Amino acid sequence: MRGDRRALGSGRVHPDVSSAAVTERAKILIVYTGGTIGMRKAPEGYKPQKGHLQALLATIPYFEDPTLPRYEIVEFDPLLDSANIGPRHWLWVADTIRRNYATYDGFLVIHGTDTLSYTASALSFMLEDLAKPVVLTGSQVPLAETRNDAQHNLLAAMQVLGRHHERLTEVMVCFASHLFRGNRTTKVSVGSFDAFASPNFPPLGRIGIDIVIDWQRTLPARARRPDVGMLEVVELGNATVGVFRVFPGLKPKLLEAVLAPPVQGVVLECFGAGNAPTADPGFMEVLREATGRGVVIVAVTQPHRGSANLSLYATGRALLDVGVVSGYDMTTEAAAAKLFYLFEKGFTPTRVKRLVQQSLVGELTVPSRTGEGSAEVLPWQAADRGSPNTGR
Ligand code: ASP
Repeated sequence: MRGDRRALGSGRVHPDVSSAAVTERAKILIVYTGGTIGMRKAPEGYKPQKGHLQALLATIPYFEDPTLPRYEIVEFDPLLDSANIGPRHWLWVADTIRRNYATYDGFLVIHGTDTLSYTASALSFMLEDLAKPVVLTGSQVPLAETRNDAQHNLLAAMQVLGRHHERLTEVMVCFASHLFRGNRTTKVSVGSFDAFASPNFPPLGRIGIDIVIDWQRTLPARARRPDVGMLEVVELGNATVGVFRVFPGLKPKLLEAVLAPPVQGVVLECFGAGNAPTADPGFMEVLREATGRGVVIVAVTQPHRGSANLSLYATGRALLDVGVVSGYDMTTEAAAAKLFYLFEKGFTPTRVKRLVQQSLVGELTVPSRTGEGSAEVLPWQAADRGSPNTGR
């Protein structure tokens, strides 16, 4: 990234607003990474274009409305289709938030929809100690098109941040009619405005005529650190992490290649409640050999809804026996980000396995039968953050 291009003093303080009203308005930082929302049609297809989104926003009076937070924008250079976003861009976003943490009440990350859930999941782990809201949004249709979902998504996200910045302290996705916990989301539609779902955790809020937040679901507000402006950022992406989908006809050799060094952790997308072709001795041997070398294999479920609980079926138990662990109802996006995070922290495979099965930032629901009482509390997890089973 070649550095921030920040639109400072871009006339965002509406001239009609009294200074008293201005000081009461929240101030947010928009971190614009790219995506369809600000794209323009080019001969080779839709592409994001420098400065285009900012210029468009300046022409739409709604974004000057005094009921919205004041905002400033920093823009990726170059702007990216989110297919090209990865760990080093997550770090750029996280670092931008960290550097500006004390100055703003909340952060809006504008992102392409294709990998938005991966980034949301990654940020939820990277931003340790987060005590301010971070909302990701994007759109299916560019803001420049006459009928688009971009304006609604941006305005809704800004309203959420403006109204609730004192109580929302997590990484969220605001899209169409929902506010979701970011690490519970997955992209479910290419063509619908309802592009995202949170299959295993109810929305944190509904965006209708009113914006209604379900405060039972949100992470308990964190005490802001007295050393104002402090936010720890954990860089992700140095570990070697993979995702592999089990399918009928799978040749063990293929899985063996995925599990070969230097891989440290793999998210194994299993059938149903965490099942796999365990009757195939070759398959089982490949798993056993890999876990024996310290590779952490986390079972999640291919169906969007539900939990991979390996103690349920004999096939699941066979996986447990060769050292695979349950990822319960985590999305693949969250499970992969979590593996990156836990390895980045330098934990041993045994500790990674244990922590994978606990909720750290609301990314999974621990089935009650598994004895969550033994959950480990990480040093940065303040006692006020609730129980691991209630989404924390
Ligand atoms: N390809 C685009 C992206 O993810 C799609 C979108 O933004 O909706 O950047």
